Amino acid sequence: MMKKTFLTCLALLLVVAMLATSVACTNPTQNPASTTDGETTAADTDASTTGDTDADTDVTTDAATDGETTSDVEDEAGPYVYKHVVVVGVDGAGAFFKEAETPNLDKIFANGAVTYEAITSTPSISAQSWGSLFHGVTPEFHGLDNGITGSQAYPADSEFPSFFRVIREQMPNASLASFCHWNNINIGIIEDGIGVHKASDSSDVKVIRMARDYVEAEVENGNGAPTMLFIHLDEADAAGHNSGYGTAVHLKKIKQQDAWISTLYDTYADLGLLEDTLFIVTTDHGGSGTSHGGSTDAEMKIMFAATGKTVEKGTIGEMGIRDTASVVLHALGLEQPASWTSRVPSGLFKGVVAGDRPVYEIDGSDREHVNVPTPEAGSAGHISQFITDKNLVSYLTFDGDVTDEMGAATTQGGKLYFVEGYFGEGARMEDGYVSIPDYAPGTSSFSVSLWINTNGVASDPPLFSNKNWNNGNLSGYVFCIKSGAVQFNMGDGENRMDFNKQLPLNYATGWMHLTLVVDREAGEVRISTDFGAFQTMAIPEALKDVSLDAYDVLNIGQDGTGTYSAPLSAVVDEFMIFDGALTAADVEALASYYGK
Ligand SMILES: [Zn+2]
Repeated sequence: MMKKTFLTCLALLLVVAMLATSVACTNPTQNPASTTDGETTAADTDASTTGDTDADTDVTTDAATDGETTSDVEDEAGPYVYKHVVVVGVDGAGAFFKEAETPNLDKIFANGAVTYEAITSTPSISAQSWGSLFHGVTPEFHGLDNGITGSQAYPADSEFPSFFRVIREQMPNASLASFCHWNNINIGIIEDGIGVHKASDSSDVKVIRMARDYVEAEVENGNGAPTMLFIHLDEADAAGHNSGYGTAVHLKKIKQQDAWISTLYDTYADLGLLEDTLFIVTTDHGGSGTSHGGSTDAEMKIMFAATGKTVEKGTIGEMGIRDTASVVLHALGLEQPASWTSRVPSGLFKGVVAGDRPVYEIDGSDREHVNVPTPEAGSAGHISQFITDKNLVSYLTFDGDVTDEMGAATTQGGKLYFVEGYFGEGARMEDGYVSIPDYAPGTSSFSVSLWINTNGVASDPPLFSNKNWNNGNLSGYVFCIKSGAVQFNMGDGENRMDFNKQLPLNYATGWMHLTLVVDREAGEVRISTDFGAFQTMAIPEALKDVSLDAYDVLNIGQDGTGTYSAPLSAVVDEFMIFDGALTAADVEALASYYGK
């Protein structure tokens, strides 16, 4: 009896213990209906990890496809691969989800992996941030900004492809779709020509509805739901700019978006897709006051939340917005490009521990240069022997002063430092600039050639200009440099043209040559870096015949006013202005003049 009683009790105890564990699993982890506050609490974490640790012990390390040591939930066929990945990007929500009422997201991610400490890109601006999310690198590598993404397609052969392009390359039949409120993402961040179904609308509700309808139609047509679906919502950012980030108005908008996002999630549930879907909600940046772009926590910290079959319930480890790209490819079982510096963070997928972050080595060897003296005027080695059919209007060698060999009464503003140049000396510009008076191209073609040596710049300082660069619509022109790109701008007071050319990655490791051609006959502007092929943009119809005159001067290292706030932290050398439009052959002649 005693013994029997003892055994009976023991059996009873065992049953109770087993029951306890199963309740934990079904309640907090398995049943998405269970409402928690969406925040992963310690209790929850323990519950889930306990469940999983066993699976994690046998670590298998495969050649760091995405920078992590893995022991994914595997079966004999290897790590689990999702059929569908959904990324919903809520512009300008930052980590404010935490303060907002989000009952639906709380439910959706009750068993998911969440962080409010992920860090966006610097600067915390939309294009730079979404650019990193899609391309797995920081802005100085993808070179995107709001101006570029609104006007030019992303280079189809970039060394830093988007995850959409990588999926297309590794899964030729994948179904890819992007629905955006801010269409810059479709125009200048996701490549064209890779079969991404792109659509946009200037209303979040309509964007979500379009996406839902598209998914339902694709399933109905037997094509199946998208392999990769990206959705962009913009109204929280608008609320932040209008009323302030973190204000009641802003938080109320996030609450609305919470409801709209849940309708998409429900569509996936109704179509029986959730089992094979990794569902992610994240954002590009937060805000402080009514703006963003700075580096305060309120601007830089972003939420990232994921739910899916192999997602570890809990808090995600150290993460940057670019890591989203690795997460997407990891989920689809694809290899990430060697050029990406992103990796799957810890605490997201069961058993996946973040490895070392890949580093992209910038090779500056082709910019090593041995300084030689400037060829004498009239000598066989002088530029006039290389370009003979174009009128050289101005030529500043900066060999100790700002003399213009062609005779213009150049003057100096502020302080210049004459240091080693490309040829002879060059002028360090951060505290000064040079003015070439009376240079007025009007409606005629002209071309400029120059060398610069910079360690990188902040903002968008002019290399040379005759306009007030505080407003791109104003009359005149400017050729400026920014992080990873140069930009030509012209305006007539109402209309503007912006032409951005991305710079070689190693542009800040030594001397770089730039050629700008404003060809009024052809109606286009051309830019070449390092004597390479021209990139060209047509001058918009509205500006085809406008005069480019503004201030009666061309300033080097400043805008036409001489008071632009961003200093040009660079050494400039060999500044030449030609009448007319230089051709590719002229650029070759320049290259041989400089021994290239
Ligand atoms: Zn934004």
